[in-house]
Amino acid sequence: MENVNGQAERTEQGSGEAAVSTAPPNFIRTIIREDLKTGKYQGRVHTRFPPEPNGYLHIGHAKSICLNFGLAREFGGKTNLRYDDTNPAKEDVEYVESIEEDVRWLGFDWEGRKFYASDYFEQLYEYAVQLIKLGMAYVCDLSPDEIREYRGTLTEPGKNSPYRDRSVAENLDLFERMRKGEFAEGSRVLRARIDMASPNLNMRDPAIYRIKKVEHHRTGDTWCIYPMYDYAHCISDSIEGITHSICTLEFEDHRPLYDWFLDQLGIYHPQQIEFARLNLSYTLLSKRKLLQLVTEKHVSGWDDPRMPTITGIRRRGYTPESIRTFAEIIGVAKRDSVVDIQLLEHCLREDLNQRAPRRMAVLNPLRVVIDNYPEGEFEELDAVNNPEDPAMGTRKVPFGRELYIERDDFREDPPKQFHRLSPGREVRLRYAYFVTCTGLEKNDQGEVTTLHCSYDPASRGGGTPDGRKVKGTIHWVSAAHAFNATVRLYDSLFTRPDPQATTEGESFLDYLNPDSLRVLTGCKLEPSLAEAEPGARLQFERNGYFVADSVDSKPGVPVFNRTVALRDSWAKIEKKIGG
Ligand code: ATP
Ligand code: MG
Repeated sequence: MENVNGQAERTEQGSGEAAVSTAPPNFIRTIIREDLKTGKYQGRVHTRFPPEPNGYLHIGHAKSICLNFGLAREFGGKTNLRYDDTNPAKEDVEYVESIEEDVRWLGFDWEGRKFYASDYFEQLYEYAVQLIKLGMAYVCDLSPDEIREYRGTLTEPGKNSPYRDRSVAENLDLFERMRKGEFAEGSRVLRARIDMASPNLNMRDPAIYRIKKVEHHRTGDTWCIYPMYDYAHCISDSIEGITHSICTLEFEDHRPLYDWFLDQLGIYHPQQIEFARLNLSYTLLSKRKLLQLVTEKHVSGWDDPRMPTITGIRRRGYTPESIRTFAEIIGVAKRDSVVDIQLLEHCLREDLNQRAPRRMAVLNPLRVVIDNYPEGEFEELDAVNNPEDPAMGTRKVPFGRELYIERDDFREDPPKQFHRLSPGREVRLRYAYFVTCTGLEKNDQGEVTTLHCSYDPASRGGGTPDGRKVKGTIHWVSAAHAFNATVRLYDSLFTRPDPQATTEGESFLDYLNPDSLRVLTGCKLEPSLAEAEPGARLQFERNGYFVADSVDSKPGVPVFNRTVALRDSWAKIEKKIGG
C-alpha cells in the first residue's frame, strides 16, 4: 500500500528461521522458552487464533492476534487461523471475510493454515463414541432445567443424573439416533461422565453434544447435533498439533476439562495458557454490544471510525504498526485490568509522527487580508514535509494577499498566556512571513469576519535579519488556492471510562457520547491535499493526524477523518487559567 506521498507502508515479515527470541520476558515467553529447553514439543512452537465467526474483530482480538502470531514469529513457529464454528446459529460468511482481512492488515499470515472446527465434526463424533465406549460419556434425558437443578452450586455438590449409569450399548444406540435426528431439540444431550461433586462446576458432567436442528454455514444440514466449545476446542488443538493454546482468563476454570478430554482419549496434548483479556477505557469490547450499536444504528456500521473494531480503527486511520506496538507494551498479565485508551493513542502518535507528511489545513476559517501585500500577486514558499524525516523533502505552498487562519488563533481581547494573533500583535505564519494584526471587521452580530494585517517582507521563510522574536507561529492557507473540504472530528463513543458499569435499569446506551462525531464543512485545505488517495494519512499542522476516508473520500473531493488530536497544550493552559 502506498500513501499520497508514495512512501511504502512498513510491513514486517517473519524470518521463518528458528529464532532465538531476545524479547523481554513475560510469563508466556518464559513458558515457551522452558518448553524449548526441555524439548517438550520437539522444539516446535505452534499457536492458533480461534475466532468465532459471529461478529467483527475488535482491538481485544488484535491483542490476541498479535500475541499468537507474534510469539510464533518470534520463536520461528507457526500460527493457524481456526474458526470456532461450533455454534451454527450465529455464524456468517461476511464475518469470516472480515476476520481474514483484519488479520492480514495487522501484518500476519496464516500461510494457508486456515481451518474450521467444523472440519473435524466427523472426528469429534468418533472421539465421542470412544468416550462412550470407555464409560466416560452418557446420553442424558434430563431437561435443560433439570440439568441446571442437578448441577448444584458453588457451595453444594451436584446430584448424579438418573441416566448416568446407562449401559455402553444403550448410550451408543441413543447417541447414533441423536445424530440421525430422531429426537427433538433439547430432549437429550451427550455428557461427559466426570464428577458431580467436583468443586469445579465445569467438571460436573458437562454437555459434550447438543441437538440443534439448524443449518450450519459450512456443513449445511449434515448435522443436527453439534459439539460444545470446550469439547471441540481441545480436540481441534490436538488434531492441529498446537503446542501452546493461548486463551483469555475466563477459561482458566475450564482447563481441567481441556486436560480431561485429551487424557481420556489419550491423544496429543497441547498446553492451555490463560492471559488477562484487554479492557480499554471509554471502550466496549463485547461483540454482542458492538452488534447492538450497529443494528440499532447508533453508529454507521461495523467500520464506523468510532468503533473499536479493527475495521473501524483502520478507517479511523490507525496503523497496524501502532497496534502491534501497543500490544507489545501492554504485555500479558494474569490479572484483569483496564488499559487507558491514551496509551493506544500515544502509540499511534509516535508512529504517525515519523511517517505522516505534514500539511496545512484550516478547519474553522477566518479571513485575513495582508494590506501591504500587492493585490493579484502570489508566490510559492517552501514547506517542510516532515521535520522528523528530512528524506520526505519539501513542497511549495502558495501565498498571497488573502489568507485563511484558524478562528481560534485570534483573540480580540487575549488572556495573558495567549501568544497567537491579536490587535497589534506580531506572529509568524508558518513557512511564510511575520504578520502584525492592524485591524478587524465585524458583522452585525459583532462577529469578527476579516482581519487586516501587515507583513514584513524581510521575514520571508519565517525569520528576520534583526533576529526579532515572536511568541506564536500559526498555520494558514492562501484563500485563492485553498479548496473546501469536509472534515470529521471524533471524540470517544462513550462518556464514561467504564461504559459497562451500569447500575440497575441503565444500559451502556445511556452513556453514548452525543458529541462523538462533529462534521465540519467548509474547511480550507492547502491545494496539495486535493488529490489525497483514500487511506492517506497526514498530519494537519497543529490540528492532529488525519486520514482520507476510505469510503467517502475521492481524489479531488477528499473527506478527512481526524485519527487523533495532537497533544493540545493550549487546552491545558486554558483549563489551568479557566479561560
Ligand atoms: P467477545 O467477548 O467480544 O464476544 P469472544 O471471546 O467471544 O469475544 P472469540 O471470537 O471467541 O470472541 O475470540 C477469539 C479469540 O480472541 C479468543 O482466543 C479470545 O480469547 C480472544 N479475545 C477476545 N476478546 C479479547 C480481549 N478483549 N482481549 C484479548 N483477547 C481477546
Ligand atoms: Mg468466544
